[in-house]
Amino acid sequence: MKYIGAHVSASGGVENAPVNAHEIGANAFALFTKNQRQWVSKPLTEDSIRLFKENCKLYGFQPEYILPHDSYLINLGHPEEEGLEKSRAAFLDEMQRCELLGLKLLNFHPGSHLNKIPVEDCLSLIAESINIALDKTKGVTAVIENTAGQGSNLGNEFWQLRYIIDRVEDKSRIGVCLDTCHTFTAGYDLLDDYEAVFREFDEVVGFHYLRGMHLNDSKKELGSRVDRHDSIGKGLIGFPFFEKLMRDSRFDNMPLILETIDEALWPEEIAWLREQSEK
Ligand SMILES: [Zn+2]
Ligand SMILES: [Zn+2]
Repeated sequence: MKYIGAHVSASGGVENAPVNAHEIGANAFALFTKNQRQWVSKPLTEDSIRLFKENCKLYGFQPEYILPHDSYLINLGHPEEEGLEKSRAAFLDEMQRCELLGLKLLNFHPGSHLNKIPVEDCLSLIAESINIALDKTKGVTAVIENTAGQGSNLGNEFWQLRYIIDRVEDKSRIGVCLDTCHTFTAGYDLLDDYEAVFREFDEVVGFHYLRGMHLNDSKKELGSRVDRHDSIGKGLIGFPFFEKLMRDSRFDNMPLILETIDEALWPEEIAWLREQSEK
């Protein structure tokens, strides 16, 4: 079965996210558990935690299909001590928030070398950062998102994801989220090479590590390494790819999350995707 949703607003409190997801016809969702543009946020209140769990139960959202996303400020591969420590502390806080909410996944962008250290060194720092966070938490899987490879962001090539996973001690709590826009602009031809791209992903990373997907069309060309999402069917990836994906059982039973640019279209996009999955 396909679990389809969007990255919904948690404004006013995390407890509002499942309500917002329900309203757009989703059976999965993503959220920020704190302000994604600030280093420090207030701790979650007990009321907020209780209401979040109640609302998830009320609307039938199971933790397996909820994919929280961490703050954009965090760089787990930061080449400088201060930035790295700050990022590691913030990431641990994100993991602990997920723990408190009874969530099982935390999606994050791997990190950036900022042109100051070699790629492999940065990937090793990222793995070490993950190990530190996993060591201090229980039950939450760190889910690395592949990137478009914009600027010095790592995680655009599958081998880099593998390189990190290989250095993570607890393999049961490490996973991957593939973003369709990022995959495409990173240079993987989802249109003409659908089977080959996912075969390569399986060989290099392994489908058993896939914990979720971000479903985004792309405003930018294949291999452009620029991250600009578009609404489903309106970008350069187009409807046929998403149709195929929705009928591909390798993407069953994981959160499939829209981060598309026009929120008003989410109900329509979700309904269309679901329809393809049921064909
Ligand atoms: Zn994404
Ligand atoms: Zn993106």
